[in-house]
Amino acid sequence: MIKHNSILNLDMDERMDIGTYLLEQINDYMTHIRGVRVSPELSVDAVAEHVRRLSFEHPVSAREAIYHILEGLRQYQVHTPHPRYFGLYNPRPNFMGIMADTITAAFNPQLAAWSHAPVAVEMENYVLKEIASKFGYSAEAADGTFTTGGAEANLTAVLTALVHRFPSYAKEGLRSLPTHPVMYASAESHHSLVKAARSCGLGTDSLRIITTGSEMHIDVHALHHQIQVDRAAGYTPFLIIATGGTTGAGAIDPINKMANLAEREQLWLHVDAAYGGASVFAPELRDLLRGIDRADSITFDAHKWMSVPMGAGIYITRHKDILHKTFSITADYMPKEGADLDVIDPFTHSIQWSRRFIGLKVYLSLVTAGWEGYRSVVQHQTEMGNRLRRELACSNWKVVNDTVLPVVCFTDSNIQSNIQSNFASFICQEILRSGQAWISIYEINKAPVLRACITNYDTTEEDIMVLMQLLNGARAKYLEEISERSELNL
Ligand SMILES: *Cc1c(COP(=O)(O)O)cnc(C)c1O
Repeated sequence: MIKHNSILNLDMDERMDIGTYLLEQINDYMTHIRGVRVSPELSVDAVAEHVRRLSFEHPVSAREAIYHILEGLRQYQVHTPHPRYFGLYNPRPNFMGIMADTITAAFNPQLAAWSHAPVAVEMENYVLKEIASKFGYSAEAADGTFTTGGAEANLTAVLTALVHRFPSYAKEGLRSLPTHPVMYASAESHHSLVKAARSCGLGTDSLRIITTGSEMHIDVHALHHQIQVDRAAGYTPFLIIATGGTTGAGAIDPINKMANLAEREQLWLHVDAAYGGASVFAPELRDLLRGIDRADSITFDAHKWMSVPMGAGIYITRHKDILHKTFSITADYMPKEGADLDVIDPFTHSIQWSRRFIGLKVYLSLVTAGWEGYRSVVQHQTEMGNRLRRELACSNWKVVNDTVLPVVCFTDSNIQSNIQSNFASFICQEILRSGQAWISIYEINKAPVLRACITNYDTTEEDIMVLMQLLNGARAKYLEEISERSELNL
C-alpha cells in the first residue's frame, strides 16, 4: 500500500530522479531546438489521440507522465523558442526565467497579502520602480502592479482612468454617471482594448477607433476632431491610448503630440508599450518612445522583449493613489499581521487576488543579465531586423512598414500588383510547410503582406539567411506555377 502523502510528494529519490531527468530534457530542448520543426502539421485526430493515451483510472509513473507531456509538446506545438520562429511577440524564454518559475511553483509564495510574502512583494516593487524609472518616471512617484499580461494591464489602465475621471464609478458604477464616457485608440492598437471596453461595462462602441496615416500611427488631427465631435454630441472623453510598438507592424504613435492633446483636453494618457517598451533599454532606441514619461500609465510586457516565460505583464502609473482608489477593499478573512506596518497588500492594488510571484522571473533575469545584458539583447535583435531588411532588399522584396523595431512587413511588389494574388498566403504556407521557419501574414492597406519579427535573442545571421533562402525558393515556385498555369491556358 502507498502511504497517502507519498502519492503527491513522491519520495526523495524519485524527486531527484525526476528533477534530473526533467532538467536534462529542458537542456536538450534548449540546445538542440534548431533540429525540430518550427511548427507542426495540424492534425486534430493525432492530438486528441495523444492527449487521451493516458487515463486517470490507471495512473502511470512520474517519469512516464513527464515523458508523455514532453513528447506531446515536442511534436504538437509551434516552437516559439526556436530561433527561426519569426513570429508574434513570443520570445525564447531565458533560462533564469525558467528557473524563476520553478522556484515560484515550489515555494508558492502567496502575494495577496504583504505579510504572507514580504520579500516577494518587495522584490516586485523594486523591479517595478526600476522599470518605471527606465520610462522616465520618478521612482518615488511611480506605482504599479505585475499582471498576467498586457491584456490585464490594459484593462487596469481603463479602470484606473475611469476612476480618475469619475470617482463615483468605483462604488456606484457606470449607471451613476450622467454622461457616456468614451476612449480613443488607433486602428492599429491591440484588440485587448476592445475586451477592456467590454469588461469595464462601457461596451465596445465606447472605444473610438481613430484612423492611421501612411506610417500606421495614429492621425492626431483625426483624434482631436473625434474628441470635439464626441464632446459636441454629449459624450465625455476620458482616455487616450497611444501604442508604443503596434502588434502588426511595430508602428509607434506620436506620444508627445498625444500627451500635449491629453493635457489640453484633460484626458488620461495611457501608453501601451507591451512590446516596444523594451526599446528604452538601448540608448539609441530610447527616443522612439519620447514623451512616454508624460503618460499617466504604461503597459509593458516582460514576457515579450525581456524574454521571460509567460505570463508577466506590468502596469505602471505615476498616480500613486489610483490603484488604491480603484481596487482597495477590506476583507475580514485576509491576514492582519501587516495592518500596523507601512506596507501595501497587493490584493488591494490590482485585479488579481491570490497572486503568483510573477516578478521573480523579471528580477532573476535582470539581476543576472543586468541592464547591460538587456541593452545588448535589444541591440542584437534590432540589428537582426536591419539585416533582414537589407537581405530582403537585395533579393527584390519590398519592405512596406516603416519602423526601426525588428518587425518587418514585406512583399514582392511586382508580383503583388501584377497578379493580384494569393501570393502572400502561398509563400507563408510554403515556409510553414518546410518546418524550417515560422512567419505570418498581416494586412496593410487592405493587401496581405508577409510579416517576420525577430523575437528571439538567439536568432543569428545564419538564421536570417535560411529564411531568405526559403522565401526566395517559395517565390520561384510560385512564379513557376503561375507560368505553368498560363501555358496550359494557351
Ligand atoms: C501583446 C500585446 C498586448 C496583449 O498582451 P498579452 O500579454 O498578450 O495579454 C497588448 N498590446 C500590445 C501592443 C501587444 O503587442
